[in-house]
Amino acid sequence: MMIPIIQRNVGWIEVICGCMFSGKSEELIRRLRRTLIARQKVSIFKPKIDNRYSANHIVSHSENKIESRVVEHSREILDGSLESHVVGIDEAQFFDEELVDVCIKLANMGKRVIVAGLDMDYRSEPFQPMPKLMAVAEYVTKTQAICVRCGNPATFTQRTTQEADQVVIGAQNIYEARCRNCFEPPAPETNNKPKAAASANHKTS
Ligand code: ADP
Ligand code: ZN
Repeated sequence: MMIPIIQRNVGWIEVICGCMFSGKSEELIRRLRRTLIARQKVSIFKPKIDNRYSANHIVSHSENKIESRVVEHSREILDGSLESHVVGIDEAQFFDEELVDVCIKLANMGKRVIVAGLDMDYRSEPFQPMPKLMAVAEYVTKTQAICVRCGNPATFTQRTTQEADQVVIGAQNIYEARCRNCFEPPAPETNNKPKAAASANHKTS
């Protein structure tokens, strides 16, 4: 992705999206590390999903990590990053819909906002608020994993259990990266459930 040299005091939104294991967190951490090297003020956030995993770091599946703050509502991101040049947000699909307005406000204030999250849930439905963020972002990067079945580029998150709960916490034990050919949508009775009962997931390995 080419980001041109930008005049001071102009903010923008970068979205990093893709399936599980596609390297979203790694890419987010890479971009944030570079801003830290440049001595920019950086605030990094992730949503509170499960108390058991509220550690104060963003951790990739490859064990790469960077310090972050856990917040319950996207509004807390605004208050928590007033002094920052750069704002990083991981697992954005677990935030409320207000995250879109929060990111727009931050960018309008002149900040660089980098948001990473799953673009689709386990049923391959768009995972709000990611689609809206992709629409309003200046830059969108879609990362791909490797399909564990056939080795092609993977863009789908396969849930390997029968659960249909809103949030099912897990990593390799519950989810796999699959390509379009190898992705098996959940059974119809799961598909008929209301959207609010759809899935989510979280790396916890
Ligand atoms: P994401 O945030 O998109 O879930 P991470 O950045 O946390 O992804 O992890 C990416 C890492 O996951 C890769 O560098 C690799 O070590 C590991 N990984 C596990 N399964 C796969 C897969 N099927 N394809 C690619 N990488 C995988
Ligand atoms: Zn495949």
